[in-house]
Amino acid sequence: MKRITLLSLSAITIITLTTGCTNSTKNIEHSKHNNSHWSYKGDTGPKHWGSLNHKYSLCGKGTMQTPINIIPTNDVDLSPLEINYKTSSTDVINNGHTVQVNIAEGSSVTIDNEDYELKQFHFHTPSENNIKGNSYPLEAHFVHSTKDGKLAVIAVMFEEGKENPILKKIWDKFPLEENHKVSISLSSNDINSILPSNPDYYKFTGSLTTPPCSENVKWNVYKTTMSISKEQVEEFFNIFNHSNNRPLQKINDRVVFE
Ligand SMILES: [Zn+2]
Repeated sequence: MKRITLLSLSAITIITLTTGCTNSTKNIEHSKHNNSHWSYKGDTGPKHWGSLNHKYSLCGKGTMQTPINIIPTNDVDLSPLEINYKTSSTDVINNGHTVQVNIAEGSSVTIDNEDYELKQFHFHTPSENNIKGNSYPLEAHFVHSTKDGKLAVIAVMFEEGKENPILKKIWDKFPLEENHKVSISLSSNDINSILPSNPDYYKFTGSLTTPPCSENVKWNVYKTTMSISKEQVEEFFNIFNHSNNRPLQKINDRVVFE
């Protein structure tokens, strides 16, 4: 497998902020001058992100970083997420760190009376967040932003079991070569069916889990897991040949609602 040699992007667009090193046409602001290559191991791995570039300093100094081990502290009976995903996907890209599915404009979630537009979703193996000490073989992150750049992520955990038919559609398409993208037209039904039908979730304030590790991200993690086959997990792992999860971060004085 080719070594990752990408430089990461300027922190202008939400897609850029979230995925670090993409080079899709959505990221024409790509600037090799202002950003540093980062990875999941060695000298450019998570322990070093904060010192690779001053723009990544929150990765080292932040106090509300993600992922965390989710242990609920406040039972407030959260109302269900107001998800309104009604557009299809446009393309799937291998950005060197993950496989990311981009979404056509017009899908959103309303959180705390504010609309967050769904930009993309992508995957980590094994899971980044843990739930009550449990790690999962795969975690999906649905990344949203408001018009003024506030961020919200909806996360879904996958447990080993039956093959997941929607992930199969993505896995069948995703480019093995870094920085490549291909068009994929998942319907809004497909996209909605990646999410569990049980609406229960945990809510906490966190960060992007990749540089620049921006904070004040609204995290919403479904309690119910979805299914993925062992072969599908392996297939995803084999794209990069290493895991792509950031280690757990300190909770500090944060609360986790449920
Ligand atoms: Zn992620």
